[in-house]
Amino acid sequence: MNEYRNLIGGRLVPAADGRTLDSVNPATGEVWARIPAGGKADADAAVAAAREAFPMWSGMPALGRARFLRQVAEVFTRHAEELARIETTDNGRILRDTLKKDLPGMAHLWQIAAGQALDAVKGDTVILGPDSLGLTRREPYGVAVCIIPWNSPVSTFSAKAAYALAAGNTVIVKPAEQASASVLRLGELLVEAFPPGVLNIVSGLGEDVGDPLVRHRGVNKVSLTGSTQTGQAITRASADALKPLTFELGGKSPNIVFADADLDAAARGVTVDSVYTGNAGQVCVAGSRILIHRPVWDEMIERITAIASHVTLADPLDMATTMGPIVSAGQYERVTSYLEIAEKEGAEMVFGGRTGAEVVPSLPGGYWVAPTLFTTSDNSLRICQEEIFGPVAVAIPFDTDEEALAIANDSAYGLAAGVWTRDLGRAHRFVRDLQSGTVWVNTFRQMPPGLPFGGIKDSGYGHDAVLEYTREKAAIIQT
Ligand code: NAD
Repeated sequence: MNEYRNLIGGRLVPAADGRTLDSVNPATGEVWARIPAGGKADADAAVAAAREAFPMWSGMPALGRARFLRQVAEVFTRHAEELARIETTDNGRILRDTLKKDLPGMAHLWQIAAGQALDAVKGDTVILGPDSLGLTRREPYGVAVCIIPWNSPVSTFSAKAAYALAAGNTVIVKPAEQASASVLRLGELLVEAFPPGVLNIVSGLGEDVGDPLVRHRGVNKVSLTGSTQTGQAITRASADALKPLTFELGGKSPNIVFADADLDAAARGVTVDSVYTGNAGQVCVAGSRILIHRPVWDEMIERITAIASHVTLADPLDMATTMGPIVSAGQYERVTSYLEIAEKEGAEMVFGGRTGAEVVPSLPGGYWVAPTLFTTSDNSLRICQEEIFGPVAVAIPFDTDEEALAIANDSAYGLAAGVWTRDLGRAHRFVRDLQSGTVWVNTFRQMPPGLPFGGIKDSGYGHDAVLEYTREKAAIIQT
């Protein structure tokens, strides 16, 4: 049994009251690790440590901070395989993805953040008159709390902590209770990487330790990647203190295929690159609404069905596996409940709907859901409006550009969208008119560093970047 501890003030410690939570391997349903069940006392201790470290860390020249961040990049390179295996065991995302995609990208991300430490201290100068100079200073907020979900813990940890630290904040990371192990292991690896209190990691339930962190008067900035409901709860909890917030939340992204598209590319782009992924569609940007131009409806449904039939659900640590399980019993219930909802709503099932041991008999305790496709013409159904967060998609036909756009934008969410077309004018119109934080044209799920990634509407606002973790001060100097 692996036992993990929190990182607070440069020390690895259990929860203040000694309580733990079981971490379940979703491929087997068995407990494989224990993590601290942090509470208010742990939140208070982490905030005290982060506040104590803040003057030293923020007072350090930016290039000094950058040196610390580069050391983290090295840790990612040296421990990539170990971290990938822990994360795959903990949340079921296939090793092929964690090892080959996520971890190599992390070393790169910490290097980029190190390179941007100087951007965080750049300001403007404005000549206000012959004897008057205006200037701006960018300053870190202070203590930044970064709350992350379970679907890509190490990646989300990095996307927040690297930039917040580069900007001069001290940081407290709160990983998700369903999958904290890879982030807590990182805490062990980084225990001596920073001066005590600069980086803290506290695990536990959202309401037990996340909520006290958000409410704490010693916390100056909160960034959440998670569900819209948690974003709303955090907004309410931090309202009295008017805390600046960054929210990367849920989605119900449309992926629109026109008849003039490269249908081979589109068929991959709406399936294995989007919603039938290595982590079973538990992807915030999953294109879970597939909008298909009526002239190619039959052909696309055939192609999607063929690709889905080759998805291999099995042990996620096996490099031949292409789709893993759903992360937890709770999430499994949620995803499977939508199979019943779809049936009640009258959507037609094209394929899938199989769950549990029926899908992977060799691992009967795992939370398995086979790739599933429904069709409907009614975008108001719950399966078209609510985030399912599993390998369950719905295909909707359309006849005109206007109709496609209207269906795509008929959503409370606005995280991402895909458009498959060879018509350049149409591509530009859809980039302009789709209500989403990202639009992909003839590709899907690319999130290169250097471009902002965030949502609009119920998908949140702001995005993780070095300037998001700074505020601006103005000065006027009269000579
Ligand atoms: P969640 O909102 O339930 O939990 C996210 C984190 O918030 C966890 O660490 C949880 O413990 C914490 N939390 C919960 N309640 C809290 C509270 N009251 N106060 C403080 N913290 C609290 O989300 P989840 O189920 O872990 O993750 C899935 C969701 O995350 C999906 O909606 C998905 O779309 C979204 N997501 C978004 C992005 C993005 O970049 N937009 C990326 C990945 C996942």
